[in-house]
Amino acid sequence: MLDRMSDCEKQEGVRGEISRRKFLSITGLTLFSVLTACKGIKEPDLEPQPSKAVETVEKNEIILGNVRFFLKNPSSMSKEKKAELFETMSRAYNKLEGYLGKEAMTHPESISVPIEYGAISEVWDGDALGRVVMSEEEGRTTEDGIELLERLRPVKLQLKSIVEDNIAHEFVHLFAQGTALFSESFFEGHAYAIQSTLYPSSRDETLANLFAEDDINEFFDYGLDFNQYDFSLKGGIQSPLLRRLALVKWEIEWKEFLNMEPDFLRNFYTELSRQKNEGKKSFSKSDLIGIGNGVSNAFADWYKNAECFKDIGESEPKSRYLARLIKDKGLLFVGAFDAHPKVTGGGQYTPQFLSPIAVGKLKMRVLGDDGAPQELIVTNWDNYSALAKIPEEFVNGSEFQVQIVE
Ligand SMILES: [Zn+2]
Repeated sequence: MLDRMSDCEKQEGVRGEISRRKFLSITGLTLFSVLTACKGIKEPDLEPQPSKAVETVEKNEIILGNVRFFLKNPSSMSKEKKAELFETMSRAYNKLEGYLGKEAMTHPESISVPIEYGAISEVWDGDALGRVVMSEEEGRTTEDGIELLERLRPVKLQLKSIVEDNIAHEFVHLFAQGTALFSESFFEGHAYAIQSTLYPSSRDETLANLFAEDDINEFFDYGLDFNQYDFSLKGGIQSPLLRRLALVKWEIEWKEFLNMEPDFLRNFYTELSRQKNEGKKSFSKSDLIGIGNGVSNAFADWYKNAECFKDIGESEPKSRYLARLIKDKGLLFVGAFDAHPKVTGGGQYTPQFLSPIAVGKLKMRVLGDDGAPQELIVTNWDNYSALAKIPEEFVNGSEFQVQIVE
C-alpha cells in the first residue's frame, strides 16, 4: 500500500513497499493453559548433598550449589561426553558464582534436576541450544499482572550440545532467577547480558552491529516487553527474528547500565534470592523494578528513559516501518510491525502483542547500472521482519527496491 511507503522512502538507496495488511488473529485462551510441560517426571528420592560437590561420571550426576543434576538417559552418552558435560557445567557454574555471588546462586531449598541431552522438544526458537523447564503452576491475575500460587522451580535442563556460554545462560534462569519473573526484558535481558559479559565471544556480532545504525536502534526504542505467559497465549512478540532483535536490544541496554554499575546484577539477584527465601513466589514487573531501585540509586532515572523496557503498547514507535540497507555490511533490514492493546472480558484474556503489519514473502529488486531490474529472493526472513545478507556483487552502487508480496 502506498501510504506505507513514506518512512521507507526516506532511507537512502532503499525504497520499501509494504502491502497486503493482515493481522494475526487471536482466539480466546484460558490463562495459564501452558507454561512449560513438566508432568510425569519422576525424581529419585536422593537428597542433594550441597557440601560435597561431588562430580562423578560413574554416578551420572553432578552437584552444583544446592542443585543435584542427573542424566536422564545415561546410557546414551559416552563416558568422555559425560565428563565433558560435567566439566563444562562446573566451569559455567563457577564463573557465574564468581559474578553473581553464592547467595544469588542458591535455591531456597535443595532440588534435583534431570538433564536431557541431545534434543529439545517444543521449542519455538528453533536455534535454541538449551532450555530450562519450570514446574507448571496455577496463577491468578492481579492489578499488577500475574501472581503465582506456588513458586515455580526448575524441573528439567535440556541441552542440545555442550557449549559453556549457553549453559551459563541457562544457569542464570535455573539458579539466579529460578522462579517466575514476569518480564522478558528482565528475564532474558539479564541472561543475555550476563552471558555476553562473561563470554564476550558468544555475542551475535551481526545482530549487535545492526544496532550501531541509529535508525535501526531507534526503530526498537519503544515498548517491547511482555512476559512468558503472554507469549504462550499468542501475545508478546511472535516473530522469531523480531524477538531475537528485541533480546539483543535489551542486552545492549542492560550492558550499558552494567558499565556504570558493574555490581548491579550481583546485588539485584542477591536481593531477589533473599526475597525468595522469605517465601516470595513470583516477581511482577513492578517487583523487579522495586528490587532495581532498592539496590541502585542510579537505576530509576536510567530505567525510565529506556523505552524498550516498557510493555508492548505502552509507548509509541518513532517509526513503524523501516527498510534500511547497510551497505558496508551487506545487510538489508526490513521491519514492519504494530502494537495492539490487551483486552479482557468474559473470562477471556487477550494479551497485548506486537503484530507484523505485513505477512508475505519479501522480495528484493535490484536495479543495475543498465536499468534492468533483477529480482533476489531474500532467504533469511520470517514474514514480518527480515534481515537479509545481500550478495557481494549487488552491495555497491545498486539501487534497491524492497517489496513484500503474497
Ligand atoms: Zn534464556
